[in-house]
Amino acid sequence: MRVRVGAATDIGQVREGNEDSYLVEGPLYAVADGMGGHRGGEVASSLALETVQQLFERHEGTLADQVAQANRTVFDRSQSDRSVSGMGTTLTAALIDGDEVHLAHVGDSRAYLLRGGQLTQLTEDHTLVHRMVVEGEITPEEAETHPHRSILTRALGVDESVQVDEGDVRVETGDRLLLCTDGLTGMITEDEIGRTLLDSADPQEAVERLVNLANRAGGIDNITAVVLDFGDDGERSGAAAGSAIHRPTSQPPVTEGAPPGASASSAAAASRPSTDTTRMAVLPRPVPPRQPSYRGRRIGIWAGVTVSLVVLAIVGLRLFLDTQWYVGVSNGRVAIFRGVPAEVAGFELHSVVVETALSADRAESMVAWRQLPEGITVDDRAGADAVVEQIRKDLARAEQPST
Ligand code: MN
Repeated sequence: MRVRVGAATDIGQVREGNEDSYLVEGPLYAVADGMGGHRGGEVASSLALETVQQLFERHEGTLADQVAQANRTVFDRSQSDRSVSGMGTTLTAALIDGDEVHLAHVGDSRAYLLRGGQLTQLTEDHTLVHRMVVEGEITPEEAETHPHRSILTRALGVDESVQVDEGDVRVETGDRLLLCTDGLTGMITEDEIGRTLLDSADPQEAVERLVNLANRAGGIDNITAVVLDFGDDGERSGAAAGSAIHRPTSQPPVTEGAPPGASASSAAAASRPSTDTTRMAVLPRPVPPRQPSYRGRRIGIWAGVTVSLVVLAIVGLRLFLDTQWYVGVSNGRVAIFRGVPAEVAGFELHSVVVETALSADRAESMVAWRQLPEGITVDDRAGADAVVEQIRKDLARAEQPST
C-alpha cells in the first residue's frame, strides 16, 4: 500500500510557544501534545516521540509497548529534572504495516479515518468530559464547550505506568487517516474536518487548510495535523514528505501555494481572547484633567483622580473577584473558593466558600485532579459544584476493589 503524507504544526493565535510535536518517519507517524509549562510541554512531546521512534528502529516490542516505554522515559526525566517536573503529553501513533494500521493512543489527541466520505473517530478521548458523556452526565454538545474539556484522565509521563489504548484498522485504497491534537478538534467541528479532508486534493493541502481553519476560528491552542493517504500503485509504503520528528522549537514547514488563509494570523490575533490576568487589568482608567490653570488645582485634580482610581480599582477588583470561582485546597480538603488563586501584596484574593470532607491529597494523586493545589478555575458556582461532585465520584470509585 502506497502512503502519501502531509504534516503541519502551528503555534496558534494565543500561545507563546508550540508544545505540540509530530513524527513523520514512515511507516511510523504520530502526534503529541505536551503539557506542564512552556518548557515541560515541549520536552514531553518531543521526548515521547523520539523514544517511540528509537524503540521502533530497534524493533523493541509492539507499538503499544514502545508508547508505554516512552511514558517511563518522560516520567523519569520529569522526576530528575526540576525544570520540567510535572510535565506530560498526549500521544497518538499510527504504524503502517501493509494494509494494516496499528494505533496506540493516550490522551485527547485523536485519530480519524475518512472512508467513502464518512469521518470516523478511531480513538477515545481520555478526558473528564468524555467520561461524563459516557456516564450520561452531560451531552456531547455540552462537552464541546465544557470549561474542563481539557482536563485529562490519562496522559503520558505523569505516572510510572500508563494504560495505552491499542487498535488495528485495515485500510483500503482511497482511505485518508488524520492524526491531530485538540488544538484542531477544539476549534472546528468534525463536519468541517470531514469536509476539508474531502475537498483537499493532497494530504499536505489538507493539513494546511485544517490548520488555517483552526486559526481563523481563534487558534486558542497549538494546532497539529498529520494526514496519510492510502493508495495502491504498488510502491512500498514510506514517507513521501521529509522524514523527521518535528520539534516544537523548529519552524512550521514552509510550503508553497498555501491557501489564502495562511496569513490570517494577524487579523485573528486582534480578537484573541483575554486571559484571566489581562481581565484583571481591565479597570476604569483615569481621565487626565483638561488644562489645569494652576499648580494647586492640578495637584487637587490629580489627588482626586488618584482617589477615584483607587476606589474604582477596589470596587472593580471586588466585583471581579466576587464573580470568580475555583476549586482548590483548604486545610488539606477539597474546597470551593470565590476569587482567584493568588495574593497581591499579602492580600489573598480569595475566600473559602465551602470546605468539603474530601481529602485533597487523595484527589491530587489522580491524574485528573493534579492541578488542584493551583486551583481549578470554573465559570460559576455551579461549575465548582460539578467539579467537586466529580472528585467525589472519582474518590469513591478508587476505593472500590479494582475489576
Ligand atoms: Mn493542545
